[in-house]
Amino acid sequence: MEEQSADIVVIGSGPAGQKAAIQGAKLGKKVIVLEKFPEPGGSCLYSGTIPSKSLREAIIDLTRFNERGFLEYEYDMEEVSIHDLNKRLHKVIDEERNMVYRQFKKNNIRLVQGTARFENPNMITVVDREFQVVHQIKSDFFVIATGSRPRNPSNVPFDNEVILDSTRLLAIDKIPKTMVVLGGGIIGSEYASFFAALGTEVTIIDKKDHILPMLDSEIGIHLQTALTDIGLKFMGRKEPAEIKRVENHGVVIFKDGTSAAGDVVLYALGRIANVDELHIENAGLKINEKGYIPVNVLFQTQVPHIYAVGDVIGGPCLASTSMEQGRLAVRDAFGVRTHLFPDFYPIGIYTIPEISSCGYTEDELKGLGFRYEVGRAYYYEIARSHIVGNNTGMFKILFHAETLEILGVHIIGRGATEVIHIGQLAISFHAKIDYFIDQVFNYPTYAEGYRVAALNGFNKIKHRK
Ligand SMILES: Cc1cc2nc3c(=O)[nH]c(=O)nc-3n(C[C@H](O)[C@H](O)[C@H](O)COP(=O)(O)OP(=O)(O)OC[C@H]3O[C@@H](n4cnc5c(N)ncnc54)[C@H](O)[C@@H]3O)c2cc1C
Repeated sequence: MEEQSADIVVIGSGPAGQKAAIQGAKLGKKVIVLEKFPEPGGSCLYSGTIPSKSLREAIIDLTRFNERGFLEYEYDMEEVSIHDLNKRLHKVIDEERNMVYRQFKKNNIRLVQGTARFENPNMITVVDREFQVVHQIKSDFFVIATGSRPRNPSNVPFDNEVILDSTRLLAIDKIPKTMVVLGGGIIGSEYASFFAALGTEVTIIDKKDHILPMLDSEIGIHLQTALTDIGLKFMGRKEPAEIKRVENHGVVIFKDGTSAAGDVVLYALGRIANVDELHIENAGLKINEKGYIPVNVLFQTQVPHIYAVGDVIGGPCLASTSMEQGRLAVRDAFGVRTHLFPDFYPIGIYTIPEISSCGYTEDELKGLGFRYEVGRAYYYEIARSHIVGNNTGMFKILFHAETLEILGVHIIGRGATEVIHIGQLAISFHAKIDYFIDQVFNYPTYAEGYRVAALNGFNKIKHRK
């Protein structure tokens, strides 16, 4: 067993842990990262963001999704094999993993492989697969960044072929003809749309009336229409009572007695925090009622020199937010003056079509009693979308009807997750809607949608006067 010490120990090498570690190193501290998995990168790299987004891009390219409107013939989906998709997926994972190794090396960050558990608030032991203690590490500060995994109830008979969670789905060896997706949250909706674009007959099922209820409702309606156009079916107000495999099919029986079956059933009903192996009670910590580690606005746990960041603290559970939490936590630990985690940040949802939002939704503004106005631009009004061959989408800008300050931006359509950052900046700088009118935009671009939407909204105010 090796005894070591560090200025800061980071547990987990996903996006939250990586950025925490790099920040520590940049401040000149001795950093050790502990990772249970044989390679660094976290679930983000092997089963979350990176594989799902790589798969999405591969499906869009290989099925010529955006070009289909220009083709004179029906595109033959059989031309795309799981092998083609996996080849791309693994290439991206390899490149990203190498990048993590490079960054750790460049910043002199020590990566220790093994499962970490607290012995007391100032000491961690690391065990190998045989539960042998291989390291004992003392430190002034700790960052828990152990992430999350699919919430898999024991009565669901998961296998690696038919009844799958979002991790197992990545190991299928053929493209299913039919698929049932349980859960209309982000993960379920994204995968449902990917497979629908690939030609699979997909039914997505949720206990709510519609998928992704947190969206601005107009964007939600637009999404539902776009998904129906690519053949995706939705069944609302249904809760599974039993899930079973019958020969080569997955069958879901609902509480109302109805059922659904598919070549594959994707169970996407939530995730749970990875806390069980940490022995946090030895450090004086407790999980909250939802199973997450509670933190204050500085990401400190109940024990001030132990921080927790990323999925292990609960929502928003994004790689993007996890990275910034990791960076901020370590800056705080070493007393470097910094800002608090921002109130407004973009949410990217990579359904096909993709969605991105920043700021208030229209329903929220109504609830808060704001006097607001709405500017809209549709993708069919934007030259860029005619050129690239996909006209589905809209921009929606919400702004204060008197001060004209931009309060929310919601975009659905190609490029949404990129161009949202223009709206995010406008919101952070308290820009007014006429900012977009008074600027020249590159043409033809998607970003031009901001100008079209701003004109649409501003003209409504003008006519009201
Ligand atoms: C299918 C899917 C798609 C997603 N798409 C997006 C997206 O498009 N955009 C986005 O921003 N987010 C997305 N997310 C969310 C994103 O992947 C997570 O928010 C992010 O990975 C959280 O980062 P993390 O560092 O907290 O945890 P993780 O990435 O889960 O990493 C935690 C690490 O800690 C390690 N660990 C756990 N316990 C221990 C222990 N006791 N000792 C040592 N190591 C331990 C784990 O092995 C793991 O490597 C997606 C998630 C999924 C599942």
